[in-house]
Amino acid sequence: MHKTIQLRVTPDLAADPARLRLHVAREEAIDARTITALVVRRRSVDARQRTVYVNLGLDLYVNEAPPQPDFSDLRYGDVSSRPRVVVVGAGPGGLFAALRLIELGLRPVVLERGKDVHERRKDIARISREHRVDPESNYSFGEGGAGAFSDGKLYTRSKKRGNVERVLRVFCRHGASPDILVDAHPHIGTDRLPRIIEAMRRTIVEAGGEVHFSTRVDALLRTADGSRAVGVVTAAGQTFRGPVILATGHSARDVYRYLHAEGIPLEQKGIAVGVRLEHPSNVIDCIQYHSRTGRGKYLPAAEYSYTAQIDGRGVYSFCMCPGGFVVPAASGPQQLVVNGMSPSNRGSAWSNAGMVVETHPEDLDAELAPFMKEAFADPEFADAHADYADRTNPLRLMYFQEALERQTWIQGQRRQSAPAQRMTDFVNGRLSYDLPRSSYSPGLVSSPLHFWMPQFVATRLRAGFKLFGQRSRGFLSGEATVIAAETRTSSPVRIVRDAETLAHPAVGGLFPCGEGAGYAGGIVSAAVDGERCAEAAARWLESLAPAER
Ligand SMILES: Cc1cc2nc3c(=O)[nH]c(=O)nc-3n(C[C@H](O)[C@H](O)[C@H](O)COP(=O)(O)OP(=O)(O)OC[C@H]3O[C@@H](n4cnc5c(N)ncnc54)[C@H](O)[C@@H]3O)c2cc1C
Repeated sequence: MHKTIQLRVTPDLAADPARLRLHVAREEAIDARTITALVVRRRSVDARQRTVYVNLGLDLYVNEAPPQPDFSDLRYGDVSSRPRVVVVGAGPGGLFAALRLIELGLRPVVLERGKDVHERRKDIARISREHRVDPESNYSFGEGGAGAFSDGKLYTRSKKRGNVERVLRVFCRHGASPDILVDAHPHIGTDRLPRIIEAMRRTIVEAGGEVHFSTRVDALLRTADGSRAVGVVTAAGQTFRGPVILATGHSARDVYRYLHAEGIPLEQKGIAVGVRLEHPSNVIDCIQYHSRTGRGKYLPAAEYSYTAQIDGRGVYSFCMCPGGFVVPAASGPQQLVVNGMSPSNRGSAWSNAGMVVETHPEDLDAELAPFMKEAFADPEFADAHADYADRTNPLRLMYFQEALERQTWIQGQRRQSAPAQRMTDFVNGRLSYDLPRSSYSPGLVSSPLHFWMPQFVATRLRAGFKLFGQRSRGFLSGEATVIAAETRTSSPVRIVRDAETLAHPAVGGLFPCGEGAGYAGGIVSAAVDGERCAEAAARWLESLAPAER
């Protein structure tokens, strides 16, 4: 017999399979010895009331073996002699595009500017140790893209459940725990992601695809009239031919600059900017689990989500990392950007989240903030000033992001030490004399963020923090640290594409893909978009005469 049941149990019971089995036997009035398996299908923590419960969706098997997880429908056959598609970027968008191309019988050639995920780890360690950012190998660039050393949270607001489940199954097929198929908030963890990414690369290469590292694409190859992309040219002058899936992520500013200079239509896109907020994880656990002692032995580090409208703009928490670390996520020198991630056990002593303010293009018109003036005074930024002054320029928000990251780096004493302030001092407009301990390994520098950050951001954040503190006692705390700056929440530019064909309307055979193109926000949605672009590229190839493929 097989039956699906829903349970609401205490955390200690949920964590003990033997007791859970006895509990189910009692509830179902059956002999516990006849239960052959109890498979968790859904698991979520319900901390809305004073007593915390765990909701479980279970498949109960009685006198019958449960089916084993089966991913054999994901077949990656030999494509070595099939038509090829160039995939630029090996982030989730590019990798999932490549895997889907193989399923569709096409040969992906993946070109990645950064190093493989193993080598990349060393460059990332160097950022904290030596305060040096390699512009080709960092938290954004390299195998696995921004997703590789990320948190590996796999939730998405995407409504297309089928697509999301497919992506999760591809992760499982490459070594992720099948738990991600059942958890309400699936999470892989930064320590486990690299092995999964390597397994994906192996699948691509074993099927006859290619993956080239340290291969930056600098230009598109187009037909003489410019109406069709037929390949790419790399920084080393190598040419790769085929339709192009451009999955270069939102940190590849050189790509946006190149496309704009080539006259390929781009659009401005709103972003969200702000800070990382870090609390001792115990503070968040006490608030969220309504307990004076924290989460105890059986509950995971607690999550939170806050949102408010302040002066017509959303102020909200973003990419919350319970039991995680704040990391230096710049992708070049003279930038300071922070982000967050957590290992699979979510066991660090801190919990952090981006706290950001929705920023529209028109918000930039009100003031040329002092930090922008300072950035534009630099001869290296002279071109940017002219472009920024033009309100119709599609790269305007990107220049704003760049100037803010540069100012943050200056405030961080021209190193990767992040400017920071106690949360209460930020709200009260005071410099912090000292700072709490932090997970941010390059170190923090006390700085009056309330003063130098763009005022339309700082003012709303301060109001938001007060409000969130009223909603949750203890959240607005001197033990929490506000760390600048969180700027890379999404792409500041959208690369235009046709809703139906997913190709650029002015350049056939060019498929702008994933977060950098403005069609995804996060690992899962980038992966879903990668698969869609692969399918679109397959349709495009199908529409061409055989000699043109
Ligand atoms: C620290 C951190 C934590 C995060 N945590 C999460 C999380 O928990 N959950 C979540 O959903 N999202 C998270 N994100 C965001 C997530 O990683 C991105 O949304 C996702 O990776 C976007 O995928 P993508 O493939 O579109 O772009 P990217 O991952 O940015 O990949 C783009 C790739 O293209 C390459 N590239 C760029 N330019 C070129 C060029 N000219 N030639 C060749 N290659 C090029 C880059 O090197 C990069 O590898 C996190 C991001 C960071 C930085």
